[in-house]
Amino acid sequence: MRASFPDFRLGSVLATSFTGTLSERHGDAVERIPTPQRFVDWLAVYGLVVDSCTTTQLDLARELRESIHAAATAAAVQEALPAPAVHVINNRSAQGRAAAILTPDGKRQWQLSSTSCVEDALSVIAADAISIISGERDGKLALCASPTCQAAFFDTSRSRTRKWCDMNTCGNRQKKARFTANHRKKP
Ligand SMILES: [Zn+2]
Repeated sequence: MRASFPDFRLGSVLATSFTGTLSERHGDAVERIPTPQRFVDWLAVYGLVVDSCTTTQLDLARELRESIHAAATAAAVQEALPAPAVHVINNRSAQGRAAAILTPDGKRQWQLSSTSCVEDALSVIAADAISIISGERDGKLALCASPTCQAAFFDTSRSRTRKWCDMNTCGNRQKKARFTANHRKKP
């Protein structure tokens, strides 16, 4: 029997979707890539296809994830980027050999140097993080308004006023909490 694992929270931005594989960081944290295979599954969703992942590679992935989280959080509140986090992101970015390939029907595909090279996939994620933290991409880094979440997310809304990392989870929960609080006030 296959164990059941927490669902993924999939966003459209690779780097912040990746940091979202650990959610509720300021509450009861949920690890959404608890095993190497679960990370393989997550990568596949984003077109980064590897056929295996070792525990060492998963450790590298988590180290990158926490580094992106730290740097993106600092960028969102306009603080100096933590040097150790920048170091990890740069290392991972530099140590991969992934190539972007244009398919005949005009789509982008990632080609990794080998299907066991999780490091190549991590370099793609690191480069994505660099593109949002550097302000190169259209959008703004912000922190989720949910007190138990506070995840860094990339706001691409026109007004740049998004409050939650994810409308279906954090946004909904906040709305429900407010609704319940309002009803309790009434006799
Ligand atoms: Zn959130």
